[in-house]
Amino acid sequence: MTSIDLVFPGDEVAVEEEYLAAEGTFAENGVVYASQVGVLELDDKDCVARVVSHNPPNVLKEGDIVYAVVADIRNTMATADVVAKEGVDRSLGGETYATIHVSKISPKYTDDVSKELRKGDYIRAIVTGTKPSLQLATKDDHLGVIRSQCGTCKTELVRKGNGLYCKKCDRSFSRKLADDYGNVIL
Ligand SMILES: [Zn+2]
Repeated sequence: MTSIDLVFPGDEVAVEEEYLAAEGTFAENGVVYASQVGVLELDDKDCVARVVSHNPPNVLKEGDIVYAVVADIRNTMATADVVAKEGVDRSLGGETYATIHVSKISPKYTDDVSKELRKGDYIRAIVTGTKPSLQLATKDDHLGVIRSQCGTCKTELVRKGNGLYCKKCDRSFSRKLADDYGNVIL
């Protein structure tokens, strides 16, 4: 059986005879106290008391600008791993796996994700949804690829017109670039 209640730091939540301190709690003189605001979970199975943060720090919300690495290209979407939120040094809590639907990549119509994004690209994106999973978009001028390497030789690609170019392979690639591609310090 698990009981649920909202508690505050310093609140006595259990005694060590019954529950050991776990996430969000600490024990002192046999008494377990909350160390953060959250929902108290008295876990009778593992005999631990947890306080699960009600509003975890730095969880992404709609409208946040994030940096992400493209993980995979599928037919109608790309998947990406969000690595940071703009202006925030702390590491991210919560979900970092995100999807970008083909219709949300570029302001112009595209039906081929691989013409806009490639695996390994660093992108700047906006969070457009968080439920049921994290969704990103890169339509705006300032959003899109900010850094990319040649898939063949790993040379840093340079901007050429609206696309990218590998000096070593002498090949051009199309991409949805951010307006400051190549000038972003990561
Ligand atoms: Zn190359």
